[in-house]
Amino acid sequence: MQTHRHTISAPHGSVHCELTSYHFGPPGGRKAYIQAALHADEVPAMLVAQSLRTRLQLLEQQGRLSGQVVLVPAANPFGLAQVINERPFGRFDLATGINFNRGYPQLGAQLAASLATRLGPDAAANVRLVRGHLRELVAAWQAASDLALLKKTLLSLAIDADVVLDLHCDNEAVLHVYASSAQVPEIEPLARLLGAGALLHADLAGGDPFDEACMRPWAELAARAGPQVPLPLACVAATIELRGETQVDYATAALDADAILRYLSLRGIVALDAVALPPASCRATPLTGTQRLDAPHAGMLVYLRALGDRVATGDAIADLIDPATGQTTTLRAGVDGVFFARLSHRYVIRGMNVGKIAGVHPIREGNLLSL
Ligand SMILES: [Zn+2]
Repeated sequence: MQTHRHTISAPHGSVHCELTSYHFGPPGGRKAYIQAALHADEVPAMLVAQSLRTRLQLLEQQGRLSGQVVLVPAANPFGLAQVINERPFGRFDLATGINFNRGYPQLGAQLAASLATRLGPDAAANVRLVRGHLRELVAAWQAASDLALLKKTLLSLAIDADVVLDLHCDNEAVLHVYASSAQVPEIEPLARLLGAGALLHADLAGGDPFDEACMRPWAELAARAGPQVPLPLACVAATIELRGETQVDYATAALDADAILRYLSLRGIVALDAVALPPASCRATPLTGTQRLDAPHAGMLVYLRALGDRVATGDAIADLIDPATGQTTTLRAGVDGVFFARLSHRYVIRGMNVGKIAGVHPIREGNLLSL
């Protein structure tokens, strides 16, 4: 295991900030990149990273890494330093209000402009050419703020990987996975290994999250080059939501880490004995089919259904109670699907999202992710 420390704060400031990455296995071949807690206070992700580090060290000693794994166990040192009224606050940058997992540079247009006519008949040679160019594009990025330098550093570690896994968690949720629609067949085994309750896919989720920054350049270049040019989508990327923010325990983290390593074994990066895939615990559904249940007024929130429940249109999901008058509004499912995420607190104001249901049929468009 090699440990790399990356300075992510500009010189001459009074604060010095570092990002740590661990590198396992031989470089130069297949590569996986895994980062935890880009939203800094999402602790289940960081605990899984600890399990992964222990396991990867052992696998490396046993000579069972056929490719390289780069692990960033705490991807957001800036966010880890943010606290408001004694509560960690890691989702948004307090200086700018920007979600830490939004606004990543999308390199597809630059890539296509310079490479669309330079690709040849050899798919492997094309992949090497694209990876080299992606590395150059990230290296050339002039990061003008500490936050931009953090983004650049993370992207430079991930941009040439075969597999990119971004580990997060939700407020309260069953484990669920976000992926590109084009890569659902590649991600379904991961969802099965993790026992995911939902696998949500989109061509374009909106907001330019980290996983899309790694994957979309390939899709955009392939579209520009045309079907006659052999160019695989050589970066399989997914965001994994490791349940709710307080579901932090060693046994669960160990199971999640084992599932991720099994997946890397399927991708030819880790050498583990083959095992049968568990049956799917969900079907892939479009992110456009996910219903957001939003509060029509302020009130106390009482959930009537459990996470993971399959619900039908019209089913009562939660009651919203005016604490002064007792007037109660029942929030109902607008789609058939899986109730997979909800809030961890029980008082809301008007407009807050109090739950998500993974439906099958598209019902919305535009920016599909939460703020
Ligand atoms: Zn997150």
